[in-house]
Amino acid sequence: MRRGKGIELKSRGEIEAMRAAGLVVARTLAAVTAQAKAGASTGELDELAEQTIRDAGAVPSFKGYHGFPASICASLNEKVVHGIPSRDEVLAEGDLLSVDCGAILDGWHGDSAVTLAIGEVGEDDRALSAATEASMWAGIEQVRAGNKLTDISHAVETAARAAAKADGREYGIIAEYGGHGIGTQMHMEPFLPNLGKPGRGPKLRVGMAIAVEPMLTLGTAETEELDDEWTVVTADRSRAAHWEHTVAITDDGPWVLTAPEN
Ligand code: MG
Ligand code: MG
Repeated sequence: MRRGKGIELKSRGEIEAMRAAGLVVARTLAAVTAQAKAGASTGELDELAEQTIRDAGAVPSFKGYHGFPASICASLNEKVVHGIPSRDEVLAEGDLLSVDCGAILDGWHGDSAVTLAIGEVGEDDRALSAATEASMWAGIEQVRAGNKLTDISHAVETAARAAAKADGREYGIIAEYGGHGIGTQMHMEPFLPNLGKPGRGPKLRVGMAIAVEPMLTLGTAETEELDDEWTVVTADRSRAAHWEHTVAITDDGPWVLTAPEN
């Protein structure tokens, strides 16, 4: 693989191989979504995810990553990211659950996250998740050759602020965590901030792949890490949402590699 300014550049064939990995992640998140109901535990969802990934001939990239013990991150309510699934953590009506999943197929990585409403959630939770997803899509729209990296960041921030205004709320935009290059490894150069001025950072080129993953909260943008040294929570324990897709830059624009088949 070539590199442009330290960023991995993939051939068309390599991008297609990444799409295959992305589809495994998409199917896994669909399976988890279908089972994420009140009464289910996040530990069960993790087992389902691991089985789905392995049945596809892929490997869960999270499991063992710097010692992470599971195949998904399950981040419930005030947990922002990196929550550890557990048999003791049982979902209840009104919960807001973010599920992040990664898989490796033939050496290529896919990485994607969704936020799920467990039964009926409050209107503020629904709006938070919708704003986060809309911010992700606004960012993805800027994953194009010729743009600069922070054009994505700026689009994410602008969409988050527009949603907040439309919703009559304030959303915290987490700055400490963000998107990243992806390909032969899960986390590669460049780091992608979820806010900031446009027109900065490396120029985007065909063959780059980037994970776009905004995290918004109903309160502060400040976070804390729990004693398990993984789980990131909001400092004020307000609820958070997280959406993510892996996106490749092609001659025809962004290709969302972790989108479902249809
Ligand atoms: Mg992820
Ligand atoms: Mg990621």
